Amino acid sequence: MTDPKRDQHDHGHSELGEMDLRVRALESVLTQKGYVDPAALDALIDTYQTRIGPRNGARVVARAWVDAGFVAWLRSDATAAIASLGYSGRQGEHMQAVENTPDTHNMVVCTLCSCYPWPVLGLPPTWYKSAPYRSRAVRDPRGVLAEFGVELPQQTQVRVWDSTAELRYLVIPLRPAGSEGLDEVALAALVTRDSMIGTGLALAPSGATR
Ligand code: FE
Repeated sequence: MTDPKRDQHDHGHSELGEMDLRVRALESVLTQKGYVDPAALDALIDTYQTRIGPRNGARVVARAWVDAGFVAWLRSDATAAIASLGYSGRQGEHMQAVENTPDTHNMVVCTLCSCYPWPVLGLPPTWYKSAPYRSRAVRDPRGVLAEFGVELPQQTQVRVWDSTAELRYLVIPLRPAGSEGLDEVALAALVTRDSMIGTGLALAPSGATR
């Protein structure tokens, strides 16, 4: 993002390099003049990055866990199905849902930059944009998963999806054992951001063993 050449690939958002610089320049001026507090800005960014954003995706996943009709809709037109819950817009125009099964675990990367489904996941975490994640997710997905503390059964295949400006992916993690009696709100609380990128699993309900 800091190297302008980095963004000159055919990936649909070459404006981000310049935009990034403009935002930084604006932030410095506002901070110098005492109009904004950098700590408050960080808190705001954290809110979008880790709270509001991924909560949207978690609602999508919870609906998929309880509603087979919604799953069918996700398969045929994920963009429309997700928009029906109110999540649409920039960086989410062309969505594809990829469902984990006991046989297949899905993991998402953008090897070229940082394409990410903003309407459902918010802003990408720093590691998602890092060069090591972008290269290793493809070469050594199991190694990356291990670093995230995820160990899959040997027979589970790992499938890696490379996001582009044209297509953004949302992983539908496996519904955890012991969650049978939970309603949609309680289910959504089990869905972490990382489980929707594929670098994590959904949380086990408290009291359940897995
Ligand atoms: Fe990208």
